Amino acid sequence: MLACRKSEEFLEKKAHGLVADWNSLRRIFLQPESEAGRATLLRHMEQILFSLHDFLRQNVGVTEEISLQELATQFKDTTISRKPEKKLADVITALVEDIAPHAVNVSSPYFIGHMTSAIPFFMVHLKTIVAALNQNANKIETSKVVSVIERQVIAKIHRLIFQESEEFYSEHVQNAYTTLGAFTEGGTSANMTALWVARNAAFPPRNGFLGVEADGLASAYREYEVDRCVVLVSRRGHFSLRKSGGVLGIGNSNIVAVDVDRDNRIDLAAFENKISELRAAGNVRILAAVGIAGATETGTIDPLDEMGDICHRHAIHFHVDAAWGGPTLMSQKYKHFLKGIEKADSVTIDGHKQLYMPMTCGMIFFRDPSLMDKIAYHANYVNRQGSVDLGIKTLAGSREAHALILDSALKIMGSDGYGLLIDHGIEIARSFAEEIKQRKIFELISDPVLNILTYRINPPGLKLKLLAASGDERKALIEKLNDININVQRTQRESGKSFVSRTVLEHPVSKESLVVLRSVLMNPMTDMKILNEILDEQESIYKSHCGHVYGL
Ligand SMILES: *Cc1c(COP(=O)(O)O)cnc(C)c1O
Repeated sequence: MLACRKSEEFLEKKAHGLVADWNSLRRIFLQPESEAGRATLLRHMEQILFSLHDFLRQNVGVTEEISLQELATQFKDTTISRKPEKKLADVITALVEDIAPHAVNVSSPYFIGHMTSAIPFFMVHLKTIVAALNQNANKIETSKVVSVIERQVIAKIHRLIFQESEEFYSEHVQNAYTTLGAFTEGGTSANMTALWVARNAAFPPRNGFLGVEADGLASAYREYEVDRCVVLVSRRGHFSLRKSGGVLGIGNSNIVAVDVDRDNRIDLAAFENKISELRAAGNVRILAAVGIAGATETGTIDPLDEMGDICHRHAIHFHVDAAWGGPTLMSQKYKHFLKGIEKADSVTIDGHKQLYMPMTCGMIFFRDPSLMDKIAYHANYVNRQGSVDLGIKTLAGSREAHALILDSALKIMGSDGYGLLIDHGIEIARSFAEEIKQRKIFELISDPVLNILTYRINPPGLKLKLLAASGDERKALIEKLNDININVQRTQRESGKSFVSRTVLEHPVSKESLVVLRSVLMNPMTDMKILNEILDEQESIYKSHCGHVYGL
């Protein structure tokens, strides 16, 4: 923090004499013409590309040891200075030297707790080009070639998922009247878009009713004699679905959770029972059922093939949330895990997860290229009837040219390159699981299917006691165990060398709530040596805190 304060003083002195006038404004908008001016800008770019990169390479710690509270005390001034405070060079220096060290180093191979990780170095270059071009993909008039590249790259991923015929793709790839999918802000808005389409498809215009989008849910329910709309998803469903339920007006309590089996996959019998039960209730409309391809907490995949058949049989919109697992389709070895995804009516895939794109990028795809017409909007100044503007059928208005990044990345990596990343994640997760099983104080909770697994500390002493205990005694022991895992996870995070996250899972049989450690293995630089170090650290934290009580 000393460094931080010193540079503040330094900058204050430098700022002296800065004014906002037309001369300096013009300089901000014009490219520098002199050699010296260009050299300065290049130096800044170098600083951004390499100083930041060096930081990320050298500091494997997740974050420096300073509490958020301490940090917050330095960010309390809420006034905007009328005079310019800093020059560009000083702002960049401050970001690189003072701010970056207190951000989270998500690219560390010791950072295995979340779905955010290192990205290939070239992504920074691509992102810079996108910023420099500043295209707005909402409309042709501000994007031109970007719009056709977007259609092309969306079609490429659509083909990866649905594998329609060559004729199908030649017909639709650049067809202004049909839509194979769209870029979104992330998985949340992709899921929301899928449910938005499903909702509107369920309540189309008829008689005097103009459709749910125009007349609202109350009228729709009256017209169609419906009391309630539901969406079915397993207990492992992402909470973005509940958000969507709220935003779309059906109510988030109508995102109905279906039980899972021991492998955290939706229980098909429970799923079918739920459908029959809801259908028997009369005035309930099932808007959609969601299959998960890569559950956020456990990485598990629902039986998509069977779910697809059930949904078709009952004429229910089948959405697959493949925000995490979608790119598995590029692994020749493991793409069969997603068998049945081609039966989906819509599919979500995140770009900023396993496509290793910079924050933020999501995508939504529809098997039927006319389905997105259900959410089309037109305006007089853009997106007119019959126009080819992409913004006609997106929740977002203005948005960046993601297509340029994804299309370039696919060219640099090839699907085989992405396949290697997927294979590495799955295989290292298996080795990690084996290691966890070997160590006496750990218990593997969910076996990895993709590259996510959960486990917990459950030392032999406690394990034995738990087996014998029942009632209140058992409850107390489980609480104790949960506390141990919370403390170990927190202590490890705060000491800043490595990061594993934690969540709470319901035991499939006993229904008890278990605190578990969760690791996401997507960084190709994470190897078994590092994973062993992480487990060693957890063991030693446990031993120094409570090892004497429950034994190793
Ligand atoms: C991450 C994730 C989401 C949400 O995506 P965001 O990009 O964070 O909005 C939805 N579903 C699943 C399965 C996810 O893993």
